[in-house]
Amino acid sequence: MPTASARPLIKSLTLDEVSERLRALGQPAYRAKQVTQWIYGKRVKSFTEMSDLPAGLREQLAAELAFSGLEPVRTLGSKDTTLKYLFKLDDGALIESVLIPASPALYGEASDRRTICISTQVGCAYGCKFCASGLDGWSRNLQAGEIVDQVLRTEELSGEKINNIVFMGMGEPLANFANLMKAITIINAPWGVGLGARHITLSTSGLAPQIKELAEQPLQVRLAISLHGATNEVRQQIMPVNRKYPLEVLLDACEFYTQRKKQWLTFEYILIEGINDRPEDAKALVKIARKVKAKINCIPYNKVEGLEWTRPSEDRQDAFMAILEAARVPATIRREKGHDIAAACGQLRRQTMPTAA
Ligand code: SAH
Ligand code: SF4
Repeated sequence: MPTASARPLIKSLTLDEVSERLRALGQPAYRAKQVTQWIYGKRVKSFTEMSDLPAGLREQLAAELAFSGLEPVRTLGSKDTTLKYLFKLDDGALIESVLIPASPALYGEASDRRTICISTQVGCAYGCKFCASGLDGWSRNLQAGEIVDQVLRTEELSGEKINNIVFMGMGEPLANFANLMKAITIINAPWGVGLGARHITLSTSGLAPQIKELAEQPLQVRLAISLHGATNEVRQQIMPVNRKYPLEVLLDACEFYTQRKKQWLTFEYILIEGINDRPEDAKALVKIARKVKAKINCIPYNKVEGLEWTRPSEDRQDAFMAILEAARVPATIRREKGHDIAAACGQLRRQTMPTAA
């Protein structure tokens, strides 16, 4: 099994941790801000470029810490729709980040959001039946710096300033909780990437205990739940995690979250023909969206090679949406191609992996 690089990544460290390292090297307190300014402000690509640091210190830092954990290996797509970046990690593992430049973003309203969809693990252990990311199982958690670096490298490669982040790439973010929280802290911090918490959305397959833990965190990030089934019977056909955390347990955690955070949730709901797109599914969905304060984001299923399910016809999609609308539950449907972005996560990697058939 691949392991993460032995030297910690500088981009995994908070400002306090950078300060501690520098203090241990006998450096004055102001050096930490200099270092973070070079990384997140001036966006240098090595310790060598930090020209106001003594040469000896630059060498010491380079010996102790890795500067970057990602190398771009492939880019797919176009500037007008989506750009998919495939990155190789230090141990050779592959992950994807996807940029939707200047397009109406994931929740349907017109905006100039430039959204990046990032990964939190190599592979995924949860094996949802619609998803390419879980097809080859789970290899490892990403370090905080590998998560942060997806933002920096994508901005560097595209020349775009990202103003919205969704954790909807490969992996289950809440199963890599500590590294995720650290990465979000660095992305949010004024000395770091400086992106407001409200522009950061986490998506989870429904790890109830971690949802409650997240509710206790100070950051006001947004939360999306991959629901995809509104009864246990339907949901556990689609998502094995539902056996561990059945709907009643998940919804209890969701209510805890909305009450603590005074925030609406988003339920993601992929429409899969004959599996979860019947009128009774829409009615069950209405019930639970009302109970938990949740907006619904329907996503027509994107066919994944090797998986059998299909997308319903537009008529069937419309009929499903009509039931939600009649019940006055806030609901949108993602129709444009560029918005099927999260679905593409995991697929580029599979096409590139030597073992992927
Ligand atoms: N593990 C987290 C984050 C991954 S994002 C989670 O499960 O929430 C997963 C989201 O990507 C799904 O909720 C869905 O919105 C989207 N997605 C994945 N595969 C898809 C497919 N084949 N078609 C449409 N959307 C898909
Ligand atoms: Fe993992 Fe999320 Fe894909 Fe399920 S949907 S297999 S939890 S990445």
